[in-house]
Amino acid sequence: MEYILQTNNLTKIYGGKSVVDHVNMTIKKGDIYGFIGKNGAGKTTLIRMVAGLAHPTQGEIKLFESNDLDKQRKRIGTTIENPALYPNMTAKQNLEYYVKLYGIPEKDAVDQVLKLVGLEDTKRKKSKNFSLGMKQRLAIAIALLGNPDFLMLDEPTNGLDPFGIKEMRELLLRLNKQGITILISSHILGELSKIATVYGIINNGILVEEYTKQELEERCKRCLKIKVDDTKKASMILEENFQTVEYDVLPENIIRVFDPIDCSGEINRKLVLSGVTVESISLVGQDLEGYFVELMEGKNHD
Ligand code: ADP
Repeated sequence: MEYILQTNNLTKIYGGKSVVDHVNMTIKKGDIYGFIGKNGAGKTTLIRMVAGLAHPTQGEIKLFESNDLDKQRKRIGTTIENPALYPNMTAKQNLEYYVKLYGIPEKDAVDQVLKLVGLEDTKRKKSKNFSLGMKQRLAIAIALLGNPDFLMLDEPTNGLDPFGIKEMRELLLRLNKQGITILISSHILGELSKIATVYGIINNGILVEEYTKQELEERCKRCLKIKVDDTKKASMILEENFQTVEYDVLPENIIRVFDPIDCSGEINRKLVLSGVTVESISLVGQDLEGYFVELMEGKNHD
């Protein structure tokens, strides 16, 4: 398995406050890593440290399984510090400027990236007349000039309308299919949920959870939420009485039963007969968005 990014206890303190707090993040080759958290959660600061634009107060970063960050950072493309777009230049002229600036040798690099981001038909249109979505895609085109293996995009869908978001999503899927691993940050789950293969949720600088798409879907399955006075005893009774039982125990004496979910009456009866007080029992089916909101607010943290 090839790791693209690994951080170990990565921490950044600003003014005495840990805005990135002992983060252990793992991104594997081929991932589209949805990095999600509210505004101010620490996403940009973490991305800046990985890109070498801010120094970690503490902790370690590995890129492509190597500690030689200066060398490995050349394999990253990023739009964190949005590159200056020259308003009176076309998309092509802007890219040609950056090709010269970065000393990129390939002759057809500009045409390639223009096509990749879907701006090949903008011809003589100056970038000042671009929509926000087009500007964002041009910024990504600039990030792609160095032929990166890993693309870090900080809120690339910020401010885009639904059509712009859809175009951005399609672009990122295309890039990912070509073998580029992507980290994309957002404070809105809906913008990531259709493309991310892995999620990292950050809240107050702390990476609360990392999930694969499958793990997350598993978490959001429908379940019976049972509040009891004694979860240990209740767990025992569940295991003794039901051949297949899938459950977990949350704080505040809550048990979630994922299987079986269609015999709440029977479960209730067994628990009560065995001396467990059942304060409430209800069928809940958590939607993805609700789950994320709770995680981002620091609740729902078992
Ligand atoms: P996000 O990208 O999730 O919105 P940021 O990483 O931008 O979050 O910010 C995290 C916290 O760090 C915020 O409270 C922000 O004010 C603070 N912060 C970011 N950069 C600096 C800086 N250069 N100096 C002081 N505080 C900063």
